[in-house]
Amino acid sequence: MKKEDPVKGKRNLYKEKIESDLVIVGGGMAGTCCAITAARAGLKVSLVQDRLVLGGNASSEIRLWILGATSHMGNNNRWAREGGVINEILIENLYRNPEGNPLILDALLLEKVDSESNIHLLLNTSVYDLEKRAEDQIDSVKAFCSQNSTEYNLKAPLFVDASGDGILGFLSGAAFRMGAELKSEFDEKFAPDQGYGELLGHSLYFYSKNTGKPVKFVAPAFANKEIAKLPRFKSYNLKEDGCRLWWVEYGGRTDTIHASEEIKWELWRIIYGIWDYVKNSGKYQDVANLTLEWVGTIPGKRESRRFEGDYMLTQKDVVEQREHADAVSFGGWALDLHPADGVYSDKPGCTQWHSKGVYQIPYRTMYSRNIKALFLGGRLISASHVAFGSSRVMSTCAHNTQAVAIAASLCINNKLLPADLVQDQWIKTLQSQLIQTGQYLPKINLVEKKDLAQGAEIHVSSEYHLLELPFDGSWKPLEFAMAQMIPVPVGKLPSLTLKIKAKSATTLRAELRNSQKLGNYTPDHHIEQITIPILKGEDFYTLKFNYQNDKPQYIFICLMDNDELEVQCTNTRLTGLLSVFHKFNKAVATSSIQEPPLNIGIDTFEFWVPERRPEGHNLAFRLEHPLKVYGKENLLNGIFRPTLQPNAWMSDRSDPSPELKLEWVEPQTIHKVNLYFDTDFDHPLESTLMGHPESEIPFCVKSYRIKDDMGKIVYAQKDNHQSINTINFDLPIQTKKLVVELDHPSDNIPAALFGILCYGKE
Ligand SMILES: Cc1cc2nc3c(=O)[nH]c(=O)nc-3n(C[C@H](O)[C@H](O)[C@H](O)COP(=O)(O)OP(=O)(O)OC[C@H]3O[C@@H](n4cnc5c(N)ncnc54)[C@H](O)[C@@H]3O)c2cc1C
Repeated sequence: MKKEDPVKGKRNLYKEKIESDLVIVGGGMAGTCCAITAARAGLKVSLVQDRLVLGGNASSEIRLWILGATSHMGNNNRWAREGGVINEILIENLYRNPEGNPLILDALLLEKVDSESNIHLLLNTSVYDLEKRAEDQIDSVKAFCSQNSTEYNLKAPLFVDASGDGILGFLSGAAFRMGAELKSEFDEKFAPDQGYGELLGHSLYFYSKNTGKPVKFVAPAFANKEIAKLPRFKSYNLKEDGCRLWWVEYGGRTDTIHASEEIKWELWRIIYGIWDYVKNSGKYQDVANLTLEWVGTIPGKRESRRFEGDYMLTQKDVVEQREHADAVSFGGWALDLHPADGVYSDKPGCTQWHSKGVYQIPYRTMYSRNIKALFLGGRLISASHVAFGSSRVMSTCAHNTQAVAIAASLCINNKLLPADLVQDQWIKTLQSQLIQTGQYLPKINLVEKKDLAQGAEIHVSSEYHLLELPFDGSWKPLEFAMAQMIPVPVGKLPSLTLKIKAKSATTLRAELRNSQKLGNYTPDHHIEQITIPILKGEDFYTLKFNYQNDKPQYIFICLMDNDELEVQCTNTRLTGLLSVFHKFNKAVATSSIQEPPLNIGIDTFEFWVPERRPEGHNLAFRLEHPLKVYGKENLLNGIFRPTLQPNAWMSDRSDPSPELKLEWVEPQTIHKVNLYFDTDFDHPLESTLMGHPESEIPFCVKSYRIKDDMGKIVYAQKDNHQSINTINFDLPIQTKKLVVELDHPSDNIPAALFGILCYGKE
């Protein structure tokens, strides 16, 4: 038994001191992906999260789906899913949880963090104070866990503020902003005025379910009884569960930090008011058996402080896709602002303006300009209010903060501070290390001197030549214009033969297009147009263009809409090959042409978007001559997803045992091999609510074997579904030859690999 006599004064809390290399405050997607990346880079990490589980707005407490540059597949950013740990998590979530149950994601995030022995995770622990070692440097932070009644002192040379509201930045005295910049400050013509408002509000959601028997609902006294007067409520329908209720937003006219509790109460009033109206107004059919299954208790916070780094990301960086020597991440969600009056506004719930392609995010936005060892992570990075409208989505936040993690490891290993890394030599090292982990940096290739594969001669058992996609698929009516994207190397574009079915004699207008800006997938440059007569019935037709391609790029063969026509598709799916349609996704756009008002600094352009599987088939076609775009040289080009070309070696589909061989003149000692597979970076992989038709990406090689020069299997994998496989050999292998045997993912999809890296002792 423990018995204590009365004490004079007061008792002290139980105290624990933890020292690590990096303290990360906030376990949202940004903090979580940062912690895992840093731990894998060898840092000792303390991850402090004030809530019960990880994931922040993506957790089961709030239930937002994780999104990023793929933008629900509703803009022209192709193969734009973020890489690294966030990708690994989304792919694993797809595998275990294609239905999008937020509780499964909670468990997955906990598992991922728990399996990193370098992470000390403190859940239910709130950071509330800090100590400084100098005016511009944090020494340690103080946190309290009410569950174990412990006060923590967390000491480290480096800190990351990924807390959303920026508790660490605020307490440490870091420069920050809250609200919107004037248009004039960064020449941002989309900057809102006071009428629209300067801050995005919070939102709360609910889920309902059918109980199979009548259930009554007595609304709590605080429920809003005048819900039908809300402007947005007119278009509400019962399918809007969970984060489809994003428009239930409030608080943008208040202090979104200190008024957070009041905002939550207002949102509860609205939520319960909506449900009261659904159940009891008599205006809804078939609601007798419905009940509330879940109502949010913690509002999702969109915006509060944004901290100032050595650079602020602005509208022009996003729209003009400006390039930065210190690019360590990228974005691609629309500039997405909301009226500050939220659900009480008569304006549309959001205004989204897309760029023509993805944009780079510079490293200088990711550390405080005045507090030396403080990194910025998540939504609070150094961005203007307008640019934040795009950079705030969770995959972008996570991807940025993965860059922070590798930057932190460079700082620790080389005794540097965050701002020191801006020098060219360090940025290049940072970029290389990031790309190896799967981070995607648009327009930047991996240059890795330590990669032994670069010194090997490569042989492959076969190479896919793009010549014919079998005429074995369904027919696609040309209700919308359709384009087949074709990766074309330098040289003449071959003619293309299609199979067309016509209800009556008509003409087909075909346009050849590419992107004005190399690397984009907005077909805004019209190269050539032809019109060909089509007879009633089904037949083959050949499209001949006179185009000579002077740089490797994707060319769009656009078949313009015609209600009389259908084209035949193929069942074959290939890495880096897509068809797109001139239509729009109403989740992120309002029309198939983005037509902004004049003078807001936004581009007008057409959306050409893919369809999701199980649709999304390529056209069946035969080319006049083969396009050799899947060569073995792609394995060593340091790009691990399609960009200007597919960037993959792909075996011929008739090859019974595809293999690649690396041969060296001298024996090599290999400790580690990285293989980069195709997990379809075009697919957004929304984490919650919205299910997916598959649990594994069909392009991904599932089984493979690695052999040494004696033919001995040194590694075998039978059940892969991940993008990157890192194989660490317990005993390094000595060999002059490394053979990787791949199995085709399926009959319709030949085996492909983006890259292979081999390492000696690090
Ligand atoms: C309603 C709504 C809809 C949105 N729609 C989408 C969408 O569809 N897809 C998308 O990707 N993004 C969406 N966003 C944006 C996105 O959710 C946020 O911008 C993003 O979550 C920010 O990530 P973060 O890691 O910085 O912050 P958060 O996700 O908020 O994570 C920060 C974490 O830090 C913790 N924390 C805070 N203070 C402390 C402290 N003192 N001590 C310890 N821990 C602390 C918090 O509890 C939280 O878990 C939406 C946002 C909202 C609110």
